[in-house]
Amino acid sequence: MKDVLDFTHESRQARVVFRPGAATSATGGEAAALGLRRLLVLCGSRGTATARAVADSLGPACVGLHDGARMHVPVEVADRAVEVARAAGADGLVAVGGGSSIGLGKAVALRTGLPLIAVPSTYSGSEMTSVWGLTEHGAKRTGRDPVVLPRSVVYDPELTLSLPVPLSVTSGVNAIAHAVEALYAPDGSPLTALMAEEGIRAMAAALPAVADAPDSLEARGRALYGAWLCGSCLGATTMGLHHKLCHVLGGTFGLPHAETHTVVLPYALAYNAPAVPDAVAAVARALDTHDAPRALRSLAERLGAPRTLAELGLGEADLPVAAAQTAGQAYANPRAITTEGALTVLRAAYEGTEPEFPET
Ligand code: NAD
Repeated sequence: MKDVLDFTHESRQARVVFRPGAATSATGGEAAALGLRRLLVLCGSRGTATARAVADSLGPACVGLHDGARMHVPVEVADRAVEVARAAGADGLVAVGGGSSIGLGKAVALRTGLPLIAVPSTYSGSEMTSVWGLTEHGAKRTGRDPVVLPRSVVYDPELTLSLPVPLSVTSGVNAIAHAVEALYAPDGSPLTALMAEEGIRAMAAALPAVADAPDSLEARGRALYGAWLCGSCLGATTMGLHHKLCHVLGGTFGLPHAETHTVVLPYALAYNAPAVPDAVAAVARALDTHDAPRALRSLAERLGAPRTLAELGLGEADLPVAAAQTAGQAYANPRAITTEGALTVLRAAYEGTEPEFPET
């Protein structure tokens, strides 16, 4: 964490509405406040029923529903959605769903400049960031552009009631990962540190409650509250080793997004721990433990999440390739990343051993 007398903090413009039922009761009002009258609703093929309800709530201000969102936004999927938005004469976009739907909304916003409203249904945090991603020829490109940052985010815990427990758990740990890396990001600030610690605390407390009672609106609300804070951290800071490893594992080896974050996080934190004792102490406070990496691993394990990269389909021969790719790219991280260092983290995550604090 940065010294409190030495930081830069940039406030983003996103407006947030957080309320049960808000997806259908508040989205229209948010659009009207932005002066939008011709909205295209975007979703994935499995989220059509929810998106249809949001579209209906917009009445005549909805000019169409497009259900083409796919994980990691293939470029042809973005092209098609841009055509649909132009053909419909849309003056704004409403993305309903997880990071994939919001990612499609961002891709269309990037090309067209249309304002985006996000109605998230997972804990991915994409709605709070100006980061876009597009996948072409098997490679994912990402970038930051203020035009893709949703102008308004409508958080409705009722939307997350249908999120299956395994996906809730991994999506929740995906959110925690944003907050963990914000605690040692080079552009962190006292405000992001507060959001990060509270976000981890809220999410780590909510996930067991969600697993016990998936229909509990209170538990779902607390998890979504944690997701908002963790997503805000992601939007405000630059991510390090953990996110880079997951990007390589997802982009090059096709591993599933939230599950990969869940398996890798304890090991990435253990690797960075010697360089960032204050950040590790903040994570430990939030988890009410003395050993943050092990507590993260045991949280995921208790809730039945995957524990090894092998389970997620990575081959042992892929480890050196992934390590070389991770070490070969420049990015912010509190400890230098050698190929050997990355391989240590990957091998431990591949085998699912107890996370160890390595020698500095
Ligand atoms: P996702 O959006 O692909 O959703 C995963 C699955 O859950 C899908 O099958 C979806 O239909 C289903 N689902 C979503 N909400 C549901 C609900 N409430 N009930 C039942 N099923 C539901 O996955 P994700 O983890 O939310 O997002 C992952 C994608 O988002 C990746 O492409 C990742 O790179 C991207 N992402 C981007 C950012 C960013 O800042 N740009 C941040 C986080 C994630």
